[in-house]
Amino acid sequence: MKAQNFVLAVLAFAAFALLAFVPLLAHSASIEVKVWQGGAKAAHTIAHDDYCGWGTTGIEDTAIPILNARGLKASLGLIAGNCKDAQWATLKERVKQGHELFNHTLTHVGMLEAGTLAPIGGWDNVKEVVNAQQLVQSKLGYTMHFIAFPSDLVTPEAKAFVEAQPDILGARAAKDIYDGSNAGLNDPEWFKPMFVKWDGYWRDGKWSLYKPKDGNILIQHVDAALQYGAWSYRTMHGVADASWESVPVDQYTAYADYLAAKVKSGELWVAGPTDIIRYIVTREHCKLKLEGNVIKLVQSNDLCKRYASAVTVDVELANGQKGLFSQNSTPLAAQKLENGHYRINMNPAVGDVTIR
Ligand SMILES: [Zn+2]
Repeated sequence: MKAQNFVLAVLAFAAFALLAFVPLLAHSASIEVKVWQGGAKAAHTIAHDDYCGWGTTGIEDTAIPILNARGLKASLGLIAGNCKDAQWATLKERVKQGHELFNHTLTHVGMLEAGTLAPIGGWDNVKEVVNAQQLVQSKLGYTMHFIAFPSDLVTPEAKAFVEAQPDILGARAAKDIYDGSNAGLNDPEWFKPMFVKWDGYWRDGKWSLYKPKDGNILIQHVDAALQYGAWSYRTMHGVADASWESVPVDQYTAYADYLAAKVKSGELWVAGPTDIIRYIVTREHCKLKLEGNVIKLVQSNDLCKRYASAVTVDVELANGQKGLFSQNSTPLAAQKLENGHYRINMNPAVGDVTIR
């Protein structure tokens, strides 16, 4: 009887031990695709319109040196038909430095008069959009993927034309009326690549979402993104020059310092619109799953194929895994985080990622 009790006790203990430790032994890997690259809280774009246009000399003379000194990347909206040889040579440098160029039409003629919304004669979709793409391609071997219309006004016909262009992956929010819907933040869960919301810089805040009495308008738009985990897109023209609503240099420097600090702390991802658009669409439309020790696409759809780029994935290792990653048999760099977590950047369209 005693021996029997002893056996029962041993069995009970064994069962308890098994139940207690099985979950630990069987601990499997898990993945989390981060909302923003590098696990940042928010994203931000610095945009300067009217490059090669009249009066925006401060983009080159003042803004770019301030950004380059801090490792920040701008996006430059070209009025491509106005660019001179010296400007093409400079733009080649800017592309090498990682700044994005976007289509701001060939001549900036526009379709609708700002204010009155009266039609403007002379707009031609092919000339203003396609010829600008081709000119930049021929001068720089560079494909622009983003467009902003003059005065951010567009007719439904021109909008449909642009959206059908294979190279265009995104457009700054524009309409043929003023209804306020083009201003604001871009929520990554409710994102429309052809309607990227923005805030336009006005020194007195007249048509901006922000007012100078609440501080630097440029910084307020950055803080709004950080507060809501969103992407904020800042539209400007020149800096310290004769351009339309030119930004004073002290405000611009404070903005650049603030951006650089938030990038350094890992809170903010600052990039051109195309990188950010690709990221959001990839995360949404190239859904990933973990099968055993392989990270793979749930299924590929047309949007995934068109926009796919690298997304940041945090991986919690299973027991026994060493934190080595490979994609198509090629080692994939990983950053060791804490508690058995690793961070990788993977483009889902390139192939499955194997964890070892
Ligand atoms: Zn413009």
